[in-house]
Amino acid sequence: MLDPYKIRKEFPILEQLVHGKQLVYLDNAATTQKPKCVIETISDAYCTINSNVHRGIHHLSQVATERFEEAREKVRSFINAQNRHEIIFTRGTTESINLVATSFDNTFLNEGDEIIISTMEHHSNIVPWQMLQERLGVVLRVIPLNSDLSLNIDAYKALFNEKTRLVSITHVSNVLGITNPIKECIDIAHSNNVPILIDGAQSTPHIAVDVQELDADFFVFSGHKLYAPTGIGVLYGKEQFLNAMQPYHGGGEMIQTVRFEKTTYNELPYKFEAGTPDYIGAIALGRAIDFINEIGLTEIAKHEQALTKYTVERLKEIPGMRIFGSPNGAAISFLVGNIHPADMGTLLDHLGIAIRTGHHCAQPLIDYLNIPGTVRASFAIYNTTEEADILVEGIKRVSRMFE
Ligand code: PLP
Repeated sequence: MLDPYKIRKEFPILEQLVHGKQLVYLDNAATTQKPKCVIETISDAYCTINSNVHRGIHHLSQVATERFEEAREKVRSFINAQNRHEIIFTRGTTESINLVATSFDNTFLNEGDEIIISTMEHHSNIVPWQMLQERLGVVLRVIPLNSDLSLNIDAYKALFNEKTRLVSITHVSNVLGITNPIKECIDIAHSNNVPILIDGAQSTPHIAVDVQELDADFFVFSGHKLYAPTGIGVLYGKEQFLNAMQPYHGGGEMIQTVRFEKTTYNELPYKFEAGTPDYIGAIALGRAIDFINEIGLTEIAKHEQALTKYTVERLKEIPGMRIFGSPNGAAISFLVGNIHPADMGTLLDHLGIAIRTGHHCAQPLIDYLNIPGTVRASFAIYNTTEEADILVEGIKRVSRMFE
């Protein structure tokens, strides 16, 4: 069994006091804390191997390039992609989706074509498609939710027609902590001959992902939610699509030859990695993946799901508690009576408890729920039932203040 107390020792930030209280960090869906091994990897890389990748014949550049490409291999293996060149390094989920929206646009979309998303998407899986709507006149179709806030699969099936060109949906909701039946969603898209992008920002830190088994056409995630630094993320795309798509950014690295008359583009993955990449970030992401693999995603999932279940049960003790949906991942959204989420968040912060409040970059979902926002507690490998208890006692204390 995973021992969160042992794991916590790897995370220096968790040792600190906030407002004189032991920090209880429950904002992991926004970003996770970093273990010493990842922090040391960044520091070591700058101290020993730093040099721009791919362009140098000198020793340091070659070592940096090797380590960068090793990191790509670690990512490939982490999500079980077939080929290393199907792994594109980006700044994160947001940039990965924007890349697909932009490059897919040039190649595959025309005015009137339709893209399916869902009611529970993060803004980063809404706005890039809306920008296409403005630029190109594509039409967005939105999958509604059932009364338990799960995806309405029958309605999803009914959205397909001869104009549907792409589906783009989240694997796990960052607000509700609900894991969508993603394999079924992918199969439905494919039975309509439509490719599908999966936003894995909230799944990759918590459950094992196999893009070949899922048969996802695109799969995107962020390093910083996965114990790696900010500024590094991943776009996985099937070779056939990435090859057919136009480059996203132009510049160094993504070219084969440049003449004023004509430029030819590099092969995958470099075609989509213009400019100096965040190679140190990628190397640190590789180390974070090693760290996760050393613990094991099966154990991680068991621990976090048990913690979520325990916390949901304890939260239900609180009068006026309203939990949204049936969280089965690592995030729980709730409201208590008429207490505004921002008030709850501020008062919990004074008790040293870091949770997130507001719309969580999913305003359409919050509007659909007809609420001002939620309070969200989200877990990682280092959280404990003791911390869940501190959260529950903290909420009870805040609630009493509003009686
Ligand atoms: N998608 C989901 C489901 C998310 O939870 C987030 C971040 O919270 C994002 C996309 C955006 O990730 P990033 O800001 O790392 O690009």
